[in-house]
Amino acid sequence: MNMQTKAYAAQSASSALAPFDLQRRAPGPEDVQIDILFCGVCHSDLHTARNEWKNTLYPSVPGHEIVGRVVAVGDKVRSFRVGDLAGVGCMVDSCGHCHSCEEGEEQYCENGFTGTYNGPLFGGENTYGGYSQSIVVRESFVLRVRHAEQDLASVAPLLCAGITTYSPLRHWGAGPGRRVGIVGLGGLGHMGVKIAHAMGAHVVLFTTSTRKIADGKRLGADEVCVSTDRDQMAAQANRFDFILNTVAAPHNLDDYLQLLKRDGTMTLVGAPAEPHPSPGVFNLILRRRQLAGSLIGGIRETQEMLDFCAQHDIVSDIEMIPIDYINTAYERMLKSDVKYRFVIDMASLE
Ligand code: NAP
Ligand code: ZN
Repeated sequence: MNMQTKAYAAQSASSALAPFDLQRRAPGPEDVQIDILFCGVCHSDLHTARNEWKNTLYPSVPGHEIVGRVVAVGDKVRSFRVGDLAGVGCMVDSCGHCHSCEEGEEQYCENGFTGTYNGPLFGGENTYGGYSQSIVVRESFVLRVRHAEQDLASVAPLLCAGITTYSPLRHWGAGPGRRVGIVGLGGLGHMGVKIAHAMGAHVVLFTTSTRKIADGKRLGADEVCVSTDRDQMAAQANRFDFILNTVAAPHNLDDYLQLLKRDGTMTLVGAPAEPHPSPGVFNLILRRRQLAGSLIGGIRETQEMLDFCAQHDIVSDIEMIPIDYINTAYERMLKSDVKYRFVIDMASLE
C-alpha cells in the first residue's frame, strides 16, 4: 500500500515551492524506507524547480542530499537494518547492466539513470526528492553514513556537493605535489576546497567575492585569488595541473584555461542554464590543455567519499533552515549569500 508523505513542491517554473502530499511506494523486497532527517539545498534544485534546464516534470519535489534513519527494509535487504543511519544522493536507480553500470559509474548509465528527483528524464514516471518526510530506495543506491550522529545535518551536502567534487579530484589527481584550482566558493566549491586540501594538493581558490577571502583560507585553501582582479589572475598563469570549475553561471572560460600548465585540465561541474562564451582554441592548442566535464560520482565512489570524509573529519559548513524558508533560501543562493550550504531540518515539515 502506498504511503502518504508530506513534501514541498513547485507546481510550475514560476510558482514558489509550497506544501504538497505525495505517495511513496511500500518497500519491496530490495527496498529501504528512510525517514528523512535533513536535506541539503543544491543549486541544481533551483535550476530544476524553475525549469532552467527545460526538462522539469511537475510537480517538482527537489532534494538529493538526503540523510535519515531506516524505518523499514524488504526481505532481501542485507546491509541495512531498522534504526541505521542512511544517505541518498542524486540517483535512485540505473539499468545495472550497461558498460558504465558494470564499472560502478552508474551516473553515466547508458540507458539513463533514475534521478532522485525529476527522473527518469526520458519517459516513465516523475520521481520526488528529499524535500519530504520519507523516501523508499533500492538498497544498492543507499549509502552508509559513518559520521557522528550530531554531525548528520552537515553530512547531508556530501551526498551531492561532496561527491561531485571528490570524483573529479580523484579522477584527474589532487594529491601532494599537484597545484589545484577550485573556482567558485559555493556549496560545491567549499567542499572542493576541503577535499582537495585533505588529499594533499596545493589548493588555490578563485572567487568573485572579496568577502570570502578569509573563509577560503579557513576552509583549506593555500591561496585565494580574486578572479575579478587582473593582476592576481596574471600571477597564476600557466601554473595549474587541474582546475575544478563549480560556477553556476555563464562566464569566460579562457580566464581559467590560461592558468593551466601544459597538459593541464579544467573540468566543469557547474551547469548553468545558458552556454559559456566558447573558449578560444589557442588557449587549448598552444599548451595541449584539456577542457572536460564530470557528473556526480558512482555509488561505490560515493561510499568511498563518505568514508574519506568521516576519516578526515570533513563535513559541510551549513545554515540550517525550516522548510518554509526554502523560497527565501533560493533567492539568497542566487546572491551567493550562504555559508556554504542551506540544509533543511525536516522536523519542520509537520
Ligand atoms: P552555489 O552554492 O550557488 O555556488 C556557485 C558559486 O559560483 C557561487 O558561490 C559563486 O562563487 C560562483 N558564482 C555564481 N555566479 C557567478 C557568476 N555570475 N560569475 C562568477 N561566479 C559566480 O551552487 P552549487 O550548489 O555549488 O552548484 C554549482 C553548480 O554546479 C550549479 O550549476 C549546479 O547545478 C551544478 N551541479 C553540478 C553537478 C554535477 O554533477 N556536475 C552536481 C551538483 C551541482 P564566488 O562567490 O566564490 O565567486
Ligand atoms: Zn546537487
